Amino acid sequence: TDADAPPTTESNALRTPIVAVLGHVDHGKTTLLDKIRGSAVSEGEAGAITQHIGATAVPLETVSQMAGSLVKPEDFDLPGLLFIDTPGHHSFSTLRSRGGALADIAIVVVDVNDGFQPQTIEALDILKRTGTPFVVAANKIDTTPGWNPNEGSPIQGTYEDQSDNARQRLDQNLYEIIGNLSDEGFSADLYWRVQNFQKNVGVVPLSAMTGEGIPDLLAVLMGLSQRYMKEEMAVDVAGPGAGTVLEVKEERGFGATVDVVLYDGSVREDDTIVVGGVNGPIVTEVRALLQPRPNAEIRTEKRFDKVEEVAAAAGIKIAAPDLDDAMAGAPIRVVRDRSVEAVIEDVESELAEIEVDTEEE
Ligand code: GDP
Repeated sequence: TDADAPPTTESNALRTPIVAVLGHVDHGKTTLLDKIRGSAVSEGEAGAITQHIGATAVPLETVSQMAGSLVKPEDFDLPGLLFIDTPGHHSFSTLRSRGGALADIAIVVVDVNDGFQPQTIEALDILKRTGTPFVVAANKIDTTPGWNPNEGSPIQGTYEDQSDNARQRLDQNLYEIIGNLSDEGFSADLYWRVQNFQKNVGVVPLSAMTGEGIPDLLAVLMGLSQRYMKEEMAVDVAGPGAGTVLEVKEERGFGATVDVVLYDGSVREDDTIVVGGVNGPIVTEVRALLQPRPNAEIRTEKRFDKVEEVAAAAGIKIAAPDLDDAMAGAPIRVVRDRSVEAVIEDVESELAEIEVDTEEE
């Protein structure tokens, strides 16, 4: 084996699990994503996170720095976590991969004071239907009356630091959430009591504002992925790519482009691709693969860097001719060593599935 090969093109390396954030409006989805991105960056080092198109990659090293003793890098061989930047169940349910959800794992955010709300239940229904594993982030624990915040602390430490009164109030709210989950048919418990995350849903008390409990959330996401998803993550990252279109966008100098989350294989410059469009599959050739340029000033500088190849899991902008009719939510496939006809058929049958699902909703 070639030890100098970049890890992204190594065959059969494990790919990054794709994480989506769902929950009722104002329960803190955006704040949670911002906090994870922000505290990863303030851990200092360059490369702490990588901003992709439509997603943020947090490498294992950074997850571990944020989670402290809860995530020891030597216990994991998954490369980290890829968070989809657009929270909400609308984006979750329009983003599919072959036969299921694009996200491998989800975080359902519930405001501890506000409890279950209509969109919480909708989110759970979607996760049930797609069979997506998830954890519940019981958010805004810092709003518990009398709470004494401990910025960035694991939950156990900060919990012990509270008054009996504050602890009791929080416990009450948490048990209410566990009860609501049970009403929806999920057997749930506080995450440290969960032995088998395939049978039980773990609830992680946290604050997206103060960062308390975020180490625990990261530990649960990593643990769950490592334990139960290793097989799904063992894709051939050097094989022909498969992904889902997030958005179709006009870009100056490139024409119509597609923003894509790649969940399998790789895409290279000059690959032939098949993309789902409003009038059926589009066959075209990659002209450029674009990543956001770090710190680019939108008006004055080029906003994107060109890359030659990208491997799953990743968010990437693809410039290619004839993408005007491409469709958000549609599949995209790299052809490479297969026949174009076979790949077109794949894309067609997936497009048909999407139509059936849309009619059902
Ligand atoms: P979204 O609609 O689910 O994305 O919710 P946002 O992230 O926009 O949060 C809604 C409001 O709740 C904002 O004013 C946030 O500042 C606030 N918020 C979110 N998380 C927390 C938290 O952990 N603690 C407190 N005190 N406020 C929070």
